[in-house]
Amino acid sequence: MQEQGIKFRNKIVSKKVPKDPRIKELKYWCKEFHLHNFAPPYKGGSCGNLSFRLQNNKNHFIITGSRSGLKNALTNNYFVEVSFVDLKKGIVYSQGKREPSSESMLHFAVYHRRKDVNAVFHGHSKEILSCKNKFKIPETKKEAPYGTFELAQGVLEILDDNFFLLLKNHGFVSLGKTMKEAGKLALQFYQKCYNKKKTKVKIIKKKFCT
Ligand SMILES: [Zn+2]
Repeated sequence: MQEQGIKFRNKIVSKKVPKDPRIKELKYWCKEFHLHNFAPPYKGGSCGNLSFRLQNNKNHFIITGSRSGLKNALTNNYFVEVSFVDLKKGIVYSQGKREPSSESMLHFAVYHRRKDVNAVFHGHSKEILSCKNKFKIPETKKEAPYGTFELAQGVLEILDDNFFLLLKNHGFVSLGKTMKEAGKLALQFYQKCYNKKKTKVKIIKKKFCT
């Protein structure tokens, strides 16, 4: 797995570290994602990103920063507020000390489209990918490079009113009205899929980090 960075232009509006009390819960889910290996570590970070919407009907959100190792005891410095994303121009406006997660465009696109969703958790799990047919989990039509508008677009194509979907040969996106819902949904799929007899899973190990 390669170490990777962001692919959009990032405009850091301010370096103010986010202080929202709900970050505590986000930290909890980051830890769970790490413990379930949904966010495999690489040198200097983890592959996986989690966010929550800050306000009903608005599209700004708090997300893990790029190159944040989720195995660490996370302080608020690891989190970033994304205040707006210009999808057409590929510019992400953020507040915080770090660059926002490389999948910020994907998170924004989901919040923009689905006002009932208040948490977007993206992780990786070969167990879950291997049981997509058994549970008829919707999957993006084609593989797209991580962190691109193309990947976000692929998710929008199959988003509909689904709460759990797969990124082809890559990972999953778990959504919820709350962080608890998004987190539990990922764990439920993992548990359902984990018991399955070992299946050969073809995963393309490349470029799908943080
Ligand atoms: Zn990923």
